[in-house]
Amino acid sequence: MSPYDLPNALFIDGKWQPSISGETFDTFNPATEEVLAKVPRANAQDVHLAVQAAHRAFYGEWRQVTPAERGKLLYRLAQTIQTNREELAKLETLDNGKPLREALGDIDGVVQTIEYNAGAADKLQGDTIPLGYEVVDFTWLEPLGVTAHIVPWNFPLGIAVRSVAPALAAGCTVVLKPAEETPLSALRLASLAQEVGFPDGVLNVVTGFGEEAGAPLVRHPWVRGVTFTGSAETGRKIIAQSAESLKSLVLELGGKNALIVFEDADLDRAVEDAIEAVFGNCGQVCSAASRLLLQRQIYQEFQRRFSERVLQLSVAPGLENGDLGPLVSREQLERAFSYIRSGLEEGASLTLGGKRPENLSRGYFLQPTIFEKVHPKMRIAQEEIFAPVVVVLSFEHDDEALQIANDVPYGLTAGIYTRDIRRALTSAQWLESGSVWINGWYLGGVQAPTGGVKASGFGRERGLPGIHNYLQIKNVAIKL
Ligand code: ADP
Repeated sequence: MSPYDLPNALFIDGKWQPSISGETFDTFNPATEEVLAKVPRANAQDVHLAVQAAHRAFYGEWRQVTPAERGKLLYRLAQTIQTNREELAKLETLDNGKPLREALGDIDGVVQTIEYNAGAADKLQGDTIPLGYEVVDFTWLEPLGVTAHIVPWNFPLGIAVRSVAPALAAGCTVVLKPAEETPLSALRLASLAQEVGFPDGVLNVVTGFGEEAGAPLVRHPWVRGVTFTGSAETGRKIIAQSAESLKSLVLELGGKNALIVFEDADLDRAVEDAIEAVFGNCGQVCSAASRLLLQRQIYQEFQRRFSERVLQLSVAPGLENGDLGPLVSREQLERAFSYIRSGLEEGASLTLGGKRPENLSRGYFLQPTIFEKVHPKMRIAQEEIFAPVVVVLSFEHDDEALQIANDVPYGLTAGIYTRDIRRALTSAQWLESGSVWINGWYLGGVQAPTGGVKASGFGRERGLPGIHNYLQIKNVAIKL
């Protein structure tokens, strides 16, 4: 039995059911390494049932629901999530490991996301196109149809809802596949959606592994759109898997994001923001700052203050609400250690951390870790580590900072700290990045689009662009 008596079942067509094969898999509590719950291990057959249900609902009952009514259902969902805030946050902490404080913040973001999309549901309108008096031409915005949502484990409910809510607002039906590491909150979402009255088949949840459940979902011919957040490597597979049936894709992949501190920056603010930017969610954030670029004049001072703050950070099980929880899985911890070894082998200098905290012998914990004397071409400066590990680089001139910032395969977020508006905006123009933040980190909100360039993917989520991912334009022309 899982925590809170969650149904250990797939949610398909409004019903809870085991996988057809009867197989299950374990999800672990990363703070204790103990099994938290067993969940069904879906395969292509289960996926087909879920897609079939979503297909039926799309061409059936869901079409009869007006945009305003879709908005109301979403509002009710937001309200019930708000009511169950503590329970959902605790579930997220148990499954993912993150400090409860952060999980509560995630749930608040989930509520805001659903509310935003609820409000937008009846405000999605087309255009009339002026072609002269002989023709009337206008556009309809129509829902894509069945959409698949494949999400990672770092913000299990947050990233699920970031795409599921706009898809539902747009009138699509949904098959959601949570990550195998963190499947529980998606199941709880399904039960809450059912409680507030979403019709059967509109939201389906299949739990399982990437190759077994994710791949058949992406390949399924009735799925019209796929939204994926995860690694670039898996993103490439998703493109290949979807090629046969030519799907509409939104991919948010990794990042190797630079936080650039110029010599005229407000250092107090830059240091404090860098702590959150690097170590929030234990560094397991696509848009985290994983490279600090410091101008030579302030390098020593910034580093002194930053290291002092890092030494104060506590590492503890999520329910104890330290600054950092464990990483999500043994695999991620081992991956982080392999990058730490690579940094050392390539000659970088490990200034802080790099080990398991001494007081925590169980759980996937890692000390906050800082590398200095890093060359921009080292693997630790080029590849996404996805752990509380930061590389610190120095630069002389503005151009050099921008060149280093851009010289990675990714382009998701970047941050600039300066008091000079010209410097800030010129840098923002040159940075190859989906988002640029000035004198702050994790700026923006549910209203502002986010997404990547280069290997960080394509398409934008959040805001109105996030809803347009699930709409297609039909042009209607009438000759008078
Ligand atoms: P990570 O390697 O960090 O676990 P992934 O990008 O592999 O991240 O996983 C993110 C999500 O993608 C998970 O839900 C996972 O099950 C899913 N996934 C992995 N491989 C595939 C695949 N080939 N097709 C579809 N989904 C996949």
